[in-house]
Amino acid sequence: MNSSSPICLGIDCGATTSKFNGVDAEGKLLTHTLRQRRTPSADGPEVMLQAWLEGLDLFLREEKLDWEQVHAVGVAMPGPYEAYGVLGSMPNMADAVEGWNYLESLQSALQYKLGRKLPVYTANDGQLAGIPEAQLLQAEHPGSVLMLAPGSGLGCSFVHADGTLLCGDHQAAVILGHIPLPYAELNLPRFSCGCGRSWGCVEAYTSISGLTQYLDERLPHYPDHPFHQDPRPRREQALCLRDLAAEEDALACDIFDLQAKAMGYTVAMGSMCYDPTHIVIGGGLMDPEATTERFRERYLRIVRENAELNLWVKPDDIRLHAARLGEHAQAMGAALLAQRTE
Ligand SMILES: [Zn+2]
Repeated sequence: MNSSSPICLGIDCGATTSKFNGVDAEGKLLTHTLRQRRTPSADGPEVMLQAWLEGLDLFLREEKLDWEQVHAVGVAMPGPYEAYGVLGSMPNMADAVEGWNYLESLQSALQYKLGRKLPVYTANDGQLAGIPEAQLLQAEHPGSVLMLAPGSGLGCSFVHADGTLLCGDHQAAVILGHIPLPYAELNLPRFSCGCGRSWGCVEAYTSISGLTQYLDERLPHYPDHPFHQDPRPRREQALCLRDLAAEEDALACDIFDLQAKAMGYTVAMGSMCYDPTHIVIGGGLMDPEATTERFRERYLRIVRENAELNLWVKPDDIRLHAARLGEHAQAMGAALLAQRTE
């Protein structure tokens, strides 16, 4: 790229690592190489801010770009927030950063460093992931996009047909992970959720967060399964399930089939709320490096079948897709938000 072309940068702040990327003037991703470093939230705001600045510096150096080209910066941050750009109490982040106005801190640090004011914007990481996925889909076929990305939780995003993100009045729109799932329809008990709600949150049935509860429920149905002799805690067993599913382990397949059914119901509920044309399933289960093609096809087929049981619109009215941008989606979404808001 020409070293004078304008770019926007994005920081995807995760609980363990922060990823750095950006977009050029046409909204294209700057690199497909994953540039990331540790998120030192336990060391407090100053150390975390420093890690971001060093991460951005290194990113520009490695991509042979210059701060002069940077027009704006976006930050993808998991909620909840106390206010726009102010961290609330987050289950996966250290208490040391609770209440930190990271938006203001980054803005003044960049102004001090660069000697000019650089606009900085932020939004929920799950919401931002939908922007670049929508950009790809909408170039091929018009329509709004609902994205559901199961990972440690359930990231959700809704992007209007014109490419704008639905953020809500308190940056808390599209929290489909914490509405109740009709779990009795799946012959499952009520699972607990990290958010504290006791009504059987969607997130517990569709993401990593509920896998240990699935194991408690389903393992007794497989009396010969090696997990019965396995001394490791449930949490560690749960993290092996994805690899076991790749080997066609019956228990693992059973659990992911149930997750896919739950996701199908969530797609139906999301379709009733937002009436999108495109529905994108993201997260680790759709990552070609983490799961087999056979697994992904089976998962998406079950999602579609169970969504269709309850759709309000005609089945042909929705298009179900696997996400394409993988781990780049959130940093790219943050950069695109910055570019479009600037
Ligand atoms: Zn919940």
